[in-house]
Amino acid sequence: MSNELVLAVEDLTVSFDGFKAVDKLNLYVEKNELRVIIGPNGAGKTTVLDLICGRTKATSGSIKFKDIELTKYPEYKIVQVGVGRKFQTPSIYENLSVLENLEISFPRGRGVFGSLVFARTQDVVDRIMEIAEMIFLSDQLEVQAGLLSHGQKQWLEIGMLLIQDPELLMLDEPVAGMSVSEREKTAELLNRISQGRSVIVIEHDMEFVKRIAHKVTVLHQGKLLAEGNMDAVQSNPKVIEVYLGH
Ligand code: ADP
Ligand code: MG
Repeated sequence: MSNELVLAVEDLTVSFDGFKAVDKLNLYVEKNELRVIIGPNGAGKTTVLDLICGRTKATSGSIKFKDIELTKYPEYKIVQVGVGRKFQTPSIYENLSVLENLEISFPRGRGVFGSLVFARTQDVVDRIMEIAEMIFLSDQLEVQAGLLSHGQKQWLEIGMLLIQDPELLMLDEPVAGMSVSEREKTAELLNRISQGRSVIVIEHDMEFVKRIAHKVTVLHQGKLLAEGNMDAVQSNPKVIEVYLGH
């Protein structure tokens, strides 16, 4: 069985005034895969996501998403071809309801003037309901997003990305600040959404990583330190020394 490669990062390097935050990194992610990236603070994890989504431009190397070379693409085009990215702090519209937040994230949701000019057609409503259910917010559709708990806000933002149906979804520390039960539900959510697409998650909580990761990539000083399944990575002496030992 050969699995479809969705993302191929090769020799990726970014240098900030001579400091290599990411240094000749190779990373390959397949369809249906949920990859977790771990590593100490400053290892370059967030920068890798910044590079893939076009927020930061690579100094050298390549980022292939299917057949597309992303290093040459502007950020908005990278979104258009099917790459979604969630930042650490949720960026939702606090004054709008859950429903409205999902609605304006629907690909047709933004009119030419950026306003909500489209009709709420049945396919849009169906999709919103499906996503709301997935992110555990079916009963909060009319609630103003600013009133949600921190965890619910994180889910809403994941929902806003899901509604665009990205083939690659990247999440930076999605369970930071969540309660135990919210973490459990988020693990369930991530397992579900990796079916049919690829997901990259940056995470520190090793209990959580264990529950979601197919494969784990360990970064250290911008370089790949280790990669493999959870057991292999956890028993790797290099990983224990620079990361898990602390
Ligand atoms: P991590 O997410 O693994 O904690 P980051 O990717 O945020 O690490 O940062 C990796 C290193 O790159 C850090 O030393 C950080 O200070 C540096 N860095 C990140 N972005 C920039 C930038 N835009 N300019 C200069 N240095 C940066
Ligand atoms: Mg980070």
